[in-house]
Amino acid sequence: MSEQQSRRDELDRALSAVRSRIEAACAAAGRDSHELALIVVTKYFPASDVLLLHELGARHFGENRDQEAGEKFEQVRAELGDRADLTVHFIGQLQTNKAGHVASYADVVQSVDRTRLVAALARGAQSAGRTLDVLLQVDLDADTDTGAGGGNGGAGRGGVAPEAVDELADAVAAQEPLRLRGVMAVAPRDADPDEAFARLRDVGDRIRARHADATWVSAGMSGDLEAAVRHGATHLRVGTAILGSRPSPL
Ligand SMILES: *Cc1c(COP(=O)(O)O)cnc(C)c1O
Repeated sequence: MSEQQSRRDELDRALSAVRSRIEAACAAAGRDSHELALIVVTKYFPASDVLLLHELGARHFGENRDQEAGEKFEQVRAELGDRADLTVHFIGQLQTNKAGHVASYADVVQSVDRTRLVAALARGAQSAGRTLDVLLQVDLDADTDTGAGGGNGGAGRGGVAPEAVDELADAVAAQEPLRLRGVMAVAPRDADPDEAFARLRDVGDRIRARHADATWVSAGMSGDLEAAVRHGATHLRVGTAILGSRPSPL
């Protein structure tokens, strides 16, 4: 069997297992799994894996490093041509000076956590002639200094304090090329994900009361997707359980 074929089989099995977990979690929560989008987090993995996953039916992909993501999806889109019916979600900590570039290839930016970033993304989207879906990353870690999620490929660093979310939501809504779609969070390490995702849902409800299109809740990763499903997640971001373990960051 070729290396390509065995990688395809491996991804196929892992993707099916994750889909089964989502089905089971939805059944237990009395939810319809069609309400949920599975975002496969392909950071640190090559374009060839994205193409195999696309063949296997995956359509949402998550990335957290600007340069890597830009190059990878340029390659993927060139390869797929007209069949490039995929959505790229930027889920990583974003520097203001990279916002313009991210706006050129990402469809959704899930990690918006400060006002300066809003203006930079809007300018980038404007000059690329694109509209961006935006989620506000909420910091669910009471003790922010610990940097939640460190050692997890950078997952979960950043986020706006729950008290400051309303102001940030208004800033996004005021920008023509940006569409405020909801909230995103990473459950703090060593905390109960059920409690964390319940708080995220409350913040999401509050935003939605003033911005009707902000219906998305992005929560849940390989280790806690069941808790996210229980608390109303609409988007799950799963990496390790599908692609295997990533090289650890320095
Ligand atoms: C890497 C990452 C994920 C995926 O985490 P896994 O534990 O590998 O499933 C999800 N969300 C964010 C923000 C990430 O950076």
